[in-house]
Amino acid sequence: MNNPFESAQNQLREVQAILKLDENIFAQLMHPKRVIEVSLPIKMDDGTVKVFTGYRAQYNDARGPFKGGIRFHPGVTADEVKALSAWMTWKTAVVKIPLGGGKGGVIVDPKKLSDRELESLSRAYARALTPFIGPLVDIPAPDVSTDPRIMAWMLDEYEEITGKKMPGVITGKPLSLGGSLVRDYATAQGAFYVIDELSKKYHLKDTRVAIQGFGNGGSFLAKILSQAGYRIVAIADSKSTIYRESGLDVDELILHKQTTGTLKNCVGCESMPSAAVLSVPTDILVPAALENAIHDGNKEEIKAKYIVELANGPVAPEADKWLFEKGVSVIPDILANAGGVTVSYYEQVQNAANYYWEEAEILSLLEKTMRTAFQKVLEEKEKYNTSYRMGAYALAVQRVAEAMKNRGRI
Ligand code: NAD
Repeated sequence: MNNPFESAQNQLREVQAILKLDENIFAQLMHPKRVIEVSLPIKMDDGTVKVFTGYRAQYNDARGPFKGGIRFHPGVTADEVKALSAWMTWKTAVVKIPLGGGKGGVIVDPKKLSDRELESLSRAYARALTPFIGPLVDIPAPDVSTDPRIMAWMLDEYEEITGKKMPGVITGKPLSLGGSLVRDYATAQGAFYVIDELSKKYHLKDTRVAIQGFGNGGSFLAKILSQAGYRIVAIADSKSTIYRESGLDVDELILHKQTTGTLKNCVGCESMPSAAVLSVPTDILVPAALENAIHDGNKEEIKAKYIVELANGPVAPEADKWLFEKGVSVIPDILANAGGVTVSYYEQVQNAANYYWEEAEILSLLEKTMRTAFQKVLEEKEKYNTSYRMGAYALAVQRVAEAMKNRGRI
C-alpha cells in the first residue's frame, strides 16, 4: 500500500516540474509546518485506563488559519494525517477560501466505545489541542466517523477551558450551536455543480452515473443528480451494488436502505457484488467511499469516461496515470469534494458575525464558488496541457506560493 504522505509529496514534485516555482518556496511546501502528537488517557466503562494516540497536522497557513477535519479510525497514522493536511491546503486554495490546511486523527475504533467513552475521548482530544487551535489559528471539523455531536462536545470543552464563546473554533456543529444550513449536504451539492460544469463542457446528454458509496456524500449526490435529470444506473455500499439501466429511484432506495439496512432486494433492480459498481456501463463514475478504491488491479474494468472523486484519494497514483493516458478525465477530490469545506468556511463567517444566513443565500455563494473553481482548473489544465488533477494542483500551489512569497517566507 502507498504511503499517503509520499504520494502527496510526489504529486507536489509532479506539479513543480510544470510550474518551476522558486526552489526555496517549493522546499517549504514539501513539509507540514507542525505535527502535534498527543496521548489521551480515557477511563473506560470497566474502570481501566486506556491511552489513545491523537494527531493534528498543521500543514500550511500562508492563506489563512489551518482548516481540516478530525477522523476517528483504527488505521490513522501520522503520515496519513500529514498527507490529508497537505490535501486540505490545496483544497482550500482551489476554491479560494481564505484558509490553510490541517487535519487531525485519533487511532481508535469508535464502534467499540460506549457513548460515555466516546464523549470522554472527544473532550480529551479537544483539551489536548486547545493550546494549538482557535478561530484565527486552526479550525477542526468532522471527517471519517466524527459528526456534529462530537463537534459539539469538542466546542463545549474548548469554550469551558477558554471561558469564551467561540463557535468559530470548530465547524460541522449542530444548528443549535452555530452550525450552518446546507452543511449536511454541502459536499454533494458542490460536486453537483462540478458535474454540471463537466456535462456542459463535454455536451453530455441523458448522462448515466454510477456511485460507489451510499453514505453521507454518495446518497445526497444520488438524490441531487436524479432530481436534476441524471440517470443513476448503479449504487454500491460495502455489501452490494444494485443496478438498473433505465435508472434507479433514489428516494425509494434511501427508504429501502433505512428500513431494511441493505441495498439488496430492492424491487426491479439487479443485485451484484459490491465491487461491480466500478465495471458497470456508465458515463460518470463517482467513487464516494474509500481511499485507493481504483488501483492497478481493477483499473482496466472501468468503462466510464469521467470519474468524479467525491471521496478523498479514491484513485491510486498508478491507476491515475493509466486512466489519463486512456483519455479518462478524473476530476480530483481537491475540486470535486471541496463544497464541504467551502460551507464550513461560511459557517465560520456566520459565527464571526454572529448572524445566520438563509439556505438560498448559502447555495448561491456555493454555486458561484464551485463553478468558478471548475473553470479556473480547466484553464490551468489547458494551459499546461495536463490532467484535471494537475490543473487543480497548479492552480492551488501557485496560490499558496504567492501568499508565502508576499509574506516574505523565502
Ligand atoms: P460515510 O461513512 O457516510 O459513507 C461511506 C459509504 O461507503 C457507506 O455507504 C459504505 O457502505 C460505503 N462503502 C464502504 N466500503 C465500501 C466498499 N468497499 N464498496 C462500496 N461502498 C463502500 O462517509 P462519507 O461522509 O460519505 O464520506 C465518503 C468519502 O467522501 C470519504 O473519503 C470522505 O473523506 C469523503 N468526503 C466526505 C465529505 C463529507 O462532507 N461527507 C467531505 C469531503 C470528503
